[in-house]
Parts: sequence; C-alpha cells; structure tokens
Amino acid sequence: MKTVIHKVQENENDREIYEKAGEIIRRGGLVAFPTETVYGLGGDAYNRDSSRKIYAAKGRPSDNPLIVHICDICQLPDIAVNIPSCVKDLAESFWPGPLTLIMKRSDRIPLETTGGLDTVAVRMPDHKTALDLIRYSQRPIAAPSANLSGRPSPTKASHVFTDLNGRIDMILDGGSVGIGVESTIIDLTSHTPMLLRPGYYLAEDFTEILGEVQTDPAIKILDSGLKPDENIRPKAPGMKYRHYAPKAELNIVTGDDKKVVEMINRLVAEKEKAGIRCGIITAGEDPSLYPLGVIKDAGGSDGERAYSLFGILREFDEMNVGFIYARDLSGGRLGNALMNRLYKAAAGKIINV
Ligand code: AMP
Ligand code: MG
Repeated sequence: MKTVIHKVQENENDREIYEKAGEIIRRGGLVAFPTETVYGLGGDAYNRDSSRKIYAAKGRPSDNPLIVHICDICQLPDIAVNIPSCVKDLAESFWPGPLTLIMKRSDRIPLETTGGLDTVAVRMPDHKTALDLIRYSQRPIAAPSANLSGRPSPTKASHVFTDLNGRIDMILDGGSVGIGVESTIIDLTSHTPMLLRPGYYLAEDFTEILGEVQTDPAIKILDSGLKPDENIRPKAPGMKYRHYAPKAELNIVTGDDKKVVEMINRLVAEKEKAGIRCGIITAGEDPSLYPLGVIKDAGGSDGERAYSLFGILREFDEMNVGFIYARDLSGGRLGNALMNRLYKAAAGKIINV
C-alpha cells in the first residue's frame, strides 16, 4: 500500500485534503493525524474491519482497546450508554482536551474497537486538524497512538512515517504536537471514578466535579524509588504492555543530584571502556557535568520534557547506543505522566543512589 503524506496548513487549501481523508475513513481505510497529545492512527469507530486494520498496521495486541475521538458532544449518545450526569460538566471544563473518559459501550461500537470490552474510551481532541478530520469523516474516529506497537508514541509526522509507511493510507502532517504525552484516562464505570493513565490532567483537577478520584494502584508512582507495584494488573489494558521501548537498555538513575551524576559518569565510563556507546537523558542540567556519552537534554521544565522525551528515545534508536541512562523527570504537572512513560521504557530498571 502506498502511504500518501499531506501537509495541512490550517487554511482554505486544506479542504480538498480533508475531503480525501474523510473518504478514506468512510470506506474503511486508515489516516494518521496530529492531536494536541501525540499523533493518532484513525479509522471509522463504527467499522469492525477498520479497527482490525488498526491492530494489524500497528502490530497491536487485539485486547488493547482504541480511544474513540469525537468532534461534537452530540456524537456521544451513539457511542456510550448510561452516560453519567457528570460527563456534561467534565466535557464543558475539559473538552476539547487531553482527557479520555471510560463509559459503558453502546452496541453501535463494535467489540473490535473496544478490544472486546463492554466499556468504551472517548475523547474530544483539542487540535483543529483532528477535529476537521472527524467532521469530514462524518463519524467518530477510533485511534490509538500512530506508532508500531512497543515503540515510543509519535510526536511528529516523520515518526509516523518511519513506523507505518506502506501500512496505512494517509498521514496528515500538522507539524509537531503540543503536549507530547498521551491523554489522562478516567474510568467512570467504577464505583469511585478512577485514574487509569496519568497525563496532562491530574486526579485533583477533577475533584470539584467528581469528588473523590482514585488512582489505579498499578500506576501509582511510589515515593521511594518511584516504582509501581508490578504484581498488580493495570485496569487500562494498554498499560500492561512494555511501551515506549527504545532498542538500547534504559536505566533511570535517581537520588541525590551529585551522586546521580557520579553514578552516570561511572557507568558510562565502564561501558565505553568496553566499546559500548552510551546515551544520557539529562533534565536541563549543565551538559559539561558529563564528559563521556551522547547527551540529549529533555529540558528543565515538565512541559519541555513531555515535548521532547519520545523524540529523544527515537533519536537514540537511530544511533548505535547500547545503554541509555536517564535522569529523574518527575516534578511539575506532567512529572507523573513522564515518569510513568519513562518507567515503562526502562522496563522497570531504576538505579537508586
Ligand atoms: P493509546 O492511546 O495508543 O496508548 O491507546 C489507548 C489507551 O486507552 C490504552 O492504554 C488502552 O488500554 C486505553 N483504553 C481504551 N479503551 C479502554 C477501556 N474501555 N477501558 C480501559 N482502558 C481503555
Ligand atoms: Mg499507544
């Protein structure tokens, strides 16, 4: 299959492109598109074959459900049933935006879209290209992140191209995304609303509307050593897979600043002596602290780090590094979301000094 790439510039000339893209979705094809979080791989949410194609293109396990994207709240009653009354207030405050809500699935949404679950994930993205694509398609769009399963989520159209060229019909290139990590997921079907995936929005952002919000114990970052408990199964099926995995072995090094720098320098020196190139992900500190290794700076603020992290993991994949040592990226609004992703990329490997 030939994958066509179109740059969208948010002007009149885009109309024809959206018409083509909408037609592809309506006839069961796949279109990758930018959102404010990461690039998504979209198909008709009502069409079971489209969802099957999404799983096949990504190599995604078919029990890992997709998120249904809408452009108007009017679409919701076709997608979910028993919609809780709080959804109106949540939508008013947080949509369009990086918030995904889990509700009971309507029969119009095939089980292929929800990975066999009786619940459905819905969000309205805060990105003109994504909203226009949904509008022109005239139906909700099921979309996971537009990467090969297990690879870091794409934050640029070029990342999508690297992973999915030849596997999908079209890529809408809308430049870089805004936030850089995936949406916050809240399950509204449990007795107490539950945060299933950390993102830009935090549990406390919802207390005014929802009252108590629990956090899925499987994703809780513990204070000591930041480690979630590996024996507890996460409630969002996607959170159980090794995600965002770089080719090199990634270790997170945490603890006292000075000791962390010493430890990273010692490990890099040992590896490089054995002829293994190493990467270091810094957190805005002075690069001259590290005399050896390939340094990539994630930035000093949580916003910069979210924007750059997945891209850095991909850049290291293209270089021949055997090991990556990452600084602790916690702190700030996106700190929890970042550590959740980094922890997965490291497959749990943390060196505490
Ligand atoms: P992605 O945005 O590619 O990371 O994929 C969507 C995420 O939403 C995955 O982590 C899924 O497990 C999660 N998700 C989608 N639908 C549901 C659902 N009905 N219940 C729980 N989690 C879901
Ligand atoms: Mg994903």
